[in-house]
Amino acid sequence: MTIVRFTNCRVCENGKLVREKDIVFDDASGKILDAQHEFFNCLHAPEMIIDMQNRIIAPGFMELQINGGDHGFDYSVYEDDESYREGVLGCRRQLLGFGVTSFCPTVVSGTAKLYSHVLSHLRPSFGSPAEEGADILGAHVEGPFISRQKSGCHPLENFREPVDGFNSLENMYGSENLRGGEDGTIKIVTGAPELSRMEEIIHECARRNIVYSIGHSTSGISEAEAAVRAGAKCVTHLFNAMPPMHHRDPGIIGLIGSTESLPRPYYGIICDNIHIHHSSVKLAYRAHPKGAILVSDAMGFVGCENGLYDWRNGMRVQKRGERLVLEGTDTIAGSAIGLDQCVRNLVEWTAADLPDAVACVTSHPSRLLGLEKRKGFLHAGCDADFAILDDSGYVLQTWKAGKKVHETQAKQSSEKSLTNGSRHEFVD
Ligand code: ZN
Repeated sequence: MTIVRFTNCRVCENGKLVREKDIVFDDASGKILDAQHEFFNCLHAPEMIIDMQNRIIAPGFMELQINGGDHGFDYSVYEDDESYREGVLGCRRQLLGFGVTSFCPTVVSGTAKLYSHVLSHLRPSFGSPAEEGADILGAHVEGPFISRQKSGCHPLENFREPVDGFNSLENMYGSENLRGGEDGTIKIVTGAPELSRMEEIIHECARRNIVYSIGHSTSGISEAEAAVRAGAKCVTHLFNAMPPMHHRDPGIIGLIGSTESLPRPYYGIICDNIHIHHSSVKLAYRAHPKGAILVSDAMGFVGCENGLYDWRNGMRVQKRGERLVLEGTDTIAGSAIGLDQCVRNLVEWTAADLPDAVACVTSHPSRLLGLEKRKGFLHAGCDADFAILDDSGYVLQTWKAGKKVHETQAKQSSEKSLTNGSRHEFVD
């Protein structure tokens, strides 16, 4: 056990920035400690004191919707166990550079056979060695119980309607993946509430402690509100793959303005200025800041050069900067943005300050998944996962389970900051 103390830092937690607070953790167990208890009750002195030079210490970021990474790997494409395992490992390591220390790999509408292959690789990886990369929190399964009219880039042939005795959650995903809770494999199911028997599926998710999230849906406001009453806790990529807001029937988007008698759901939102205009992000955030969860919805091509890439089912995607579209169409095929850039975009586009924006990738997703004792916060007992930030929200270092696992090169970061047009100074 080595007790490490971060001193001379600003602690960013739960939407607040606190000065004159140190963070103490054990680099062997990878857990944050109660400084008072360690120093005064147990008389344990810190064995290592690190001067953080007034930098911001935030909990490691949590990403709830991401389709792949590592130069083209896709969680929804399976060839064999070995290449899938390697691809997942590559993605976990890549995420550390964005300040992300835990995430829900996202699988688009697939067959029962695909789920049986891939979900066994996407179980929670809590307690795994820091060098393996960001922790898997469990999978986000987007579909196959979604609307054919709002299919996005999901393969239509895999879509299913839940009907009596068939296409149940267990038939589709496998009962072993539906245990729910902290160690359960499936954490989030995205579905369209207007499909038949969806209320039963929502109830079943709630009973199993799995988040049901409304998405890829044509629901009007009444259907969407009924889904929330039945137990839906979230909306998947608000504004995308759902009807636009109409003043007489605001549809799913209207949930963020619901009366206080109906719990307003959390909502994932892609802050890349491609999926959604920044003005829409501002409207949603102003209406319901405590529900905002920033997601990248990034594809495997994040970090790749521009060009044409082979994709799922013989299709190809065109990458131009952070824009990804299906070849020959305007259909957006996920994003190519890092979650840290989403945080900075929210600050730039809304009234959010940096701690507010950081809450959208830490405390908000943690509460949605019921992981407040483990991830997204910095209290004693939580995993010692940190994103060390400068005042503009650039990730300087990432720590996972008490170990430093990423350090941004000053030169590279300066270039990044120049492309964003802001002056930026580095401590080292
Ligand atoms: Zn989607």
